Amino acid sequence: MHDTIQFEATREFAERMDQADPLASFREHYLIPEKNGKPVRYFTGNSLGLQPVGARKIIGKELEKWAEFGVDGHFEGERPWFKYHELTKKGLSVVTGALESEVVAMNNLTSNLHLMMVSFYRPDKDRYKIIMEAGAFPSDQYAVETQVRFHGLDPEEAIIEIAPEAGEYTLSHDRIIDTIRKHGGETALVLLSGVQYFTGQLFDIRAITKAAHSAGALAGWDLAHAVGNAPLNLHDDGVDFAVWCSYKYLNSGPGSVSGVFVHERHGNSADLPRFAGWWGHDQDERFLMQKGFKPMPGADGWQLSNVNVLGTAAHIPALELFVEAGMSGLRQKSLQLTGYLEFLLKQADPGGQQFRILTPANPEERGCQLSVFFPSNGRNVFDHLAKMGIVTDWRENQLAETKERSGVIRVAPTPMYNTFSDVYHLYQELKKALENVR
Ligand SMILES: *Cc1c(COP(=O)(O)O)cnc(C)c1O
Repeated sequence: MHDTIQFEATREFAERMDQADPLASFREHYLIPEKNGKPVRYFTGNSLGLQPVGARKIIGKELEKWAEFGVDGHFEGERPWFKYHELTKKGLSVVTGALESEVVAMNNLTSNLHLMMVSFYRPDKDRYKIIMEAGAFPSDQYAVETQVRFHGLDPEEAIIEIAPEAGEYTLSHDRIIDTIRKHGGETALVLLSGVQYFTGQLFDIRAITKAAHSAGALAGWDLAHAVGNAPLNLHDDGVDFAVWCSYKYLNSGPGSVSGVFVHERHGNSADLPRFAGWWGHDQDERFLMQKGFKPMPGADGWQLSNVNVLGTAAHIPALELFVEAGMSGLRQKSLQLTGYLEFLLKQADPGGQQFRILTPANPEERGCQLSVFFPSNGRNVFDHLAKMGIVTDWRENQLAETKERSGVIRVAPTPMYNTFSDVYHLYQELKKALENVR
């Protein structure tokens, strides 16, 4: 249980909340873009997180080291590149709720999804289906579709998409569980996103994983929008594998290194099929350059290549801030911050005539993002906000009721660097925008 706060739609209230915020000082660790000479109100940490101040310094140091040592940098200096992937393990274990041996930073998200599916989507003639959400992020759809074809199967038959009920935008928990039960006997893999990128819905990872296992299937998770946003307990929840990217809530830089989780009950199975490379090979024998792949124990055994040091460098200070702040404190602030955003949105449109929040109203079923659907004029509202230095995200209408300039504005107040005043400011400009379009 968390305390219920009596929210108020005033600047003074927002400022009071900021003063009382125990995590307020974390904002100083980020570089906030400016517009018209003032810091923007940045609500798109769900798309590209802000740069931690420490990123430039550590990348600079690796560049200096490269200049100074050349190839010897692999084994010399403060952070030998040879073991660079180990430097992110602590942080990754904190943000995912995993053992350090269960997580590793490598490659990019979609590449990792493919690698994980090579190991954990092993269709046979009885079990070959994949259950996923309808309208999944396109890269995931393409990965799954082509994996299915790779096994000589027909995506139309092998992919079961769970769609919302008519008139709904999010998936009820029962609908997910019922689908798993219904197709359980033929299902090889349940693959969902932890937080749905479009609606912001947070799924019950533990219960869905359990349902998948009861049906005899494996459970994989795409945590692109969940990691660094909601607390995760991948180990205890029994998740089989997970993938994520580091450039959204984890603030580690555009296209920066992705991460994977492989549960320890799989991590030491040397005979699990996988696509291997030398960096996954037993570290002590790696440079013997011999035949015969012998995987490192744990998630490390899925590494292919030597680490991208410059990308991973930014990941290190970014993760340290999460370790310092702690996921439970961040979540507590996030519930208040997003609760405040929801409260103010309702104040701005009390009758619900101008827009509708698609994200679940239950705080347990969402992260920080609210997705706000405008049946009309949404684009004008978005443009007004952008002009006033309020950075949100616009998605053309993907929904049934198509009207001109309709669509969804996604707003993601992150507890790491957003303030209650940011949220209040958005509310004020939203009200102005709504008056203009009325
Ligand atoms: C952001 C995102 C991606 C992006 O994939 P990359 O391989 O990092 O380009 C994929 N899937 C989901 C669900 C995402 O939210």
